[in-house]
Amino acid sequence: MQTPHVPTAVSSPAASVEDLNPYHIARQQFDRAVAYLPKLKGGLIEFLKTPVRTITVSFPIELEDGTVRTFTGFRVLHSQIRGPGKGGIRYHPDVTVDEVQALAQWMTWKCALLDVPFGGAKGGVVCNPKQLGKSELRKITRRYIADLGSNIGPHTDIPAPDLYTDEQTMAWIYDTYHIMHPGENNLPVVTGKPLTIGGSLGRKEATARGCLFAVERYLEHGLVPSLNSLIGARVVIQGFGNAGGIAARLFQEQGAKIIGISDSQGAIHAPGGIAWEAAQQFKAQQGTVVGLPDTTTLTNEALLELDCDILIPAAMENQIHSQNAARIQARLICEAANGPTTTAADRILAERGIPVIPDILANAGGVTVSYFEWVQNIENEQWDLEEVNTKLRVKMRRGVDAVLDRWRLLNVGSDGTGAMTDADSSSATPTSASTPAQPVDLRTAALVVAIERVAEVTLRRGIWP
Ligand code: NAD
Repeated sequence: MQTPHVPTAVSSPAASVEDLNPYHIARQQFDRAVAYLPKLKGGLIEFLKTPVRTITVSFPIELEDGTVRTFTGFRVLHSQIRGPGKGGIRYHPDVTVDEVQALAQWMTWKCALLDVPFGGAKGGVVCNPKQLGKSELRKITRRYIADLGSNIGPHTDIPAPDLYTDEQTMAWIYDTYHIMHPGENNLPVVTGKPLTIGGSLGRKEATARGCLFAVERYLEHGLVPSLNSLIGARVVIQGFGNAGGIAARLFQEQGAKIIGISDSQGAIHAPGGIAWEAAQQFKAQQGTVVGLPDTTTLTNEALLELDCDILIPAAMENQIHSQNAARIQARLICEAANGPTTTAADRILAERGIPVIPDILANAGGVTVSYFEWVQNIENEQWDLEEVNTKLRVKMRRGVDAVLDRWRLLNVGSDGTGAMTDADSSSATPTSASTPAQPVDLRTAALVVAIERVAEVTLRRGIWP
């Protein structure tokens, strides 16, 4: 039996009262959305929210000091209804099968929402990359991929980077798979590869750039009073890795002021703004952003509660929860991380009128450009950066518009207290008494769109046999 995943960053003892198991949260989110899809066939609901396959592998690795340690890895395939499974691999000591199942499910909805022809999958290895050398990480990667064997493949299940894995990890994955499947074009088996090994221009920045495009489009809709563009917007970012670090650069380039950033060591704050380049250089030298001159040091918890216009959680799950949601001062939250907001926090933020661009939309730029990389690999092509970014922008804006269209429709007749009238869409009326008594939030609207699309394809293909 799995113990609930409680990331260490949630230090408040009271937060542990809340169920922080990401798989439970993913299913709660699903149930909330399904209440707005009354025409969904009953028997399909359990199928749509359950992974089709969960693989656990255990393998020994000889470490650099000659000792042997056993590692455990997971690969979860949630859905292949709309295409091959797609999803990153994370290396982290807190990885659990429940977390990977939640992340796989979110991938299914993300791909459907962005209309990328993939299903959902995710992988993880329980390990602490900060305590492992490069050769140890290479051995772990090779053994994990070898043990997964043909359960991954260019047209079945395609990995990508996630927390503490990068393009080097993807290069090892490609190489291992290629050794096991010689004589084929295996480049599309994994995305997020180095440029010299079939990677796509723009993939490294894609998650952050997708966040940028999503926020820009959301602001264009005029839904945050007196904040119609990023110029002068005060931005706080939790996490300074691929998603968060690059978001700092891109948001700064568009005129925003980054007033707070953090990494696993702590957070820093400067109301006058933190230059992205300085933070990057400092982190490269010191291993953390904490201590950057002319900034005040904070905890990660305090960072989230800073007065700002846009808050971008870009690290881990469960960062905004029942115990701090009431203290969040941001006017807009953009979830670069997967699952940073708990179900209870969603409710509190909605009641307080703080919109959350949900993870399955906000961070979908990564998988979108992964899809572009996969297409380029199949066609033996390399698109230029402008083409990649233009296509990404179109997809992100369409995704935001689709979610906002549905959000408006679902909220027709909402009086702000949750009482819904018979609106002009049958799906505007929730079917379950458990539907939260409040206006429909963006996450629910996004899930309604995504679940509806996956359900439609399932039925169109026909239930086999
Ligand atoms: P990364 O390993 O590149 O960076 C993670 C960052 O978070 C690091 O700066 C680390 O110091 C920081 N961090 C770790 N634990 C923390 C904590 N407890 N508090 C504050 N900061 C902490 O990982 P990434 O690829 O940027 O992924 C970050 C999030 O974005 C994850 O939720 C991931 O699933 C999501 N995401 C990533 C991609 C992608 O393409 N890389 C795509 C979609 C979603």
